[in-house]
Amino acid sequence: MHNLRRIDGVPSEYLANIIGGKNGDRGMRLTRMAPELSARYAVLEARYTPGGISGVLAQKWTQVQKDDLLHCYESTAKALEDLKILITQRQLEGVRDFCAYCGIGAPKQFDHYLPKAKFPEFSVHFYNLVPCCGSCNGLKGEAWLKANGTRIFINFYIDSLPTAPILEPDIQWLLKGGKHVPVVSFDLVQPIGFGAVEFAIIKSHFEKLELLARYKDQAHTEFLALRDAALAREAKTVITLRKFLTKYLQRRKETLGPLNWRIALYSKLVESTPFLRGCLRP
Ligand SMILES: [Zn+2]
Repeated sequence: MHNLRRIDGVPSEYLANIIGGKNGDRGMRLTRMAPELSARYAVLEARYTPGGISGVLAQKWTQVQKDDLLHCYESTAKALEDLKILITQRQLEGVRDFCAYCGIGAPKQFDHYLPKAKFPEFSVHFYNLVPCCGSCNGLKGEAWLKANGTRIFINFYIDSLPTAPILEPDIQWLLKGGKHVPVVSFDLVQPIGFGAVEFAIIKSHFEKLELLARYKDQAHTEFLALRDAALAREAKTVITLRKFLTKYLQRRKETLGPLNWRIALYSKLVESTPFLRGCLRP
């Protein structure tokens, strides 16, 4: 997990470009809504802070207005496609290839942090567009606040992330057909000094997106990837191999960020003597 970078420019100008491409009655209706949309954009932008965003309240729209606003996002248009590309390209290399919410899959979709069904006016506001995978987008659905009004999901544009690891992998080695096979599970841990309110958001983010179970499912693929890198080293001793993998891990950490789930798993494997022994030159 990694913070996202916002693109440059004024959100309402991107909206104006998208509306400018709409013809006929819809184009006219959207143009007439401009002052109201501008006021709503001002509300979101003023409250776009970790403590303020949950106070953005939904506004009632007629069904026609809602359809028009959602159409801005759901219908393919060059201005919208350009905006999506800008958002993706703005992210750091190594981060932009993965879903912002889980870090597992490719970000082939955009989630609306404030759900577009409740906030159709923010359907193309770039503060509200998060590059993500289909699994996360589906699991997140229209949820965003708990019953007590606090947020369920991390907002990677504004939330401060911990600096210490939050994932603790546990590796059990099973002997199968003469080979040691890892069975990996993950726990979420609150770093010392990291706030309880902020950590509650991380916890519900992980629960709602089923991240611990999804990381567990993906762990074997990552184990094989690291094992291949280790075998290619053709090391003769555990000490040499550990030294090599520590450097490799450092490079991966620079690319993926210290909180990435792959980094948590790799760090654990590099410490594991059964893993290192299994990757030595026969
Ligand atoms: Zn995802």
